[in-house]
Amino acid sequence: MTPESALIELCSVSKEYPAAPEPLQVLRNVGLSLSPGACAAIVGPSGCGKSTLLNLMGALDTPTSGHVLFRGNDLAGLKPHELARFRNREVGFVFQSHHLLPQCTALENVLVPTLLDNGANGARERAMGLLDRVGLSHRMDARPEALSGGERQRTAFVRALINRPALLLADEPTGSLNEEAARQLADLMIELQREESMAIVVVTHAMAIAERFGRVLELREGRLVPRD
Ligand code: ADP
Ligand code: MG
Repeated sequence: MTPESALIELCSVSKEYPAAPEPLQVLRNVGLSLSPGACAAIVGPSGCGKSTLLNLMGALDTPTSGHVLFRGNDLAGLKPHELARFRNREVGFVFQSHHLLPQCTALENVLVPTLLDNGANGARERAMGLLDRVGLSHRMDARPEALSGGERQRTAFVRALINRPALLLADEPTGSLNEEAARQLADLMIELQREESMAIVVVTHAMAIAERFGRVLELREGRLVPRD
């Protein structure tokens, strides 16, 4: 696949963290290419570098060597305002912990990423539509403390979608959920991925969840290999 047709591409990406007596090499020459609207799941044991990899894809951190290309452009070459736009508009993040604002309702939380745009046109309608789509139409005015774990994660998922990202990065999104809620969230992610034609990279150590996303890659000793 040429860099131009890929949505995001990792080219020989390595990452090490400073440590004594020698640096900790977490990623070694990782390559990955994801088309627009495609899905991939990354599995591997705790500490193998999954979050590190996702953070590089979302420009939350930078590689020690190698390149991360988004629509063919090296993220390392973006100016600060372009990086801010990339993080706010092109990418949506979901984490294991929902990070919802406790003082805001579900609907208000979902609208937070639109505030930079002065509450973009139609944002409220889109937020309500998406909350309805994930089965939360009756919970829009509830604060996070009143929501179940699954409801909080679905709210965080909708918040990640509100600005129509081309790429959703999900770091153990079902990690704090029971089996039923985890399966429900994964199914909603896949349905919405199709409806919204966005790409998803999901990190999980639950194989049953990973397999729902079709393409499963394993991070092993710093390298990304297809899982057979
Ligand atoms: P995973 O998400 O697969 O559990 P991480 O990407 O969080 O793994 O971490 C990979 C390795 O890098 C771990 O050994 C972790 O302790 C280390 N690590 C992660 N972030 C940092 C950091 N900012 N500084 C130093 N070491 C880190
Ligand atoms: Mg992690």
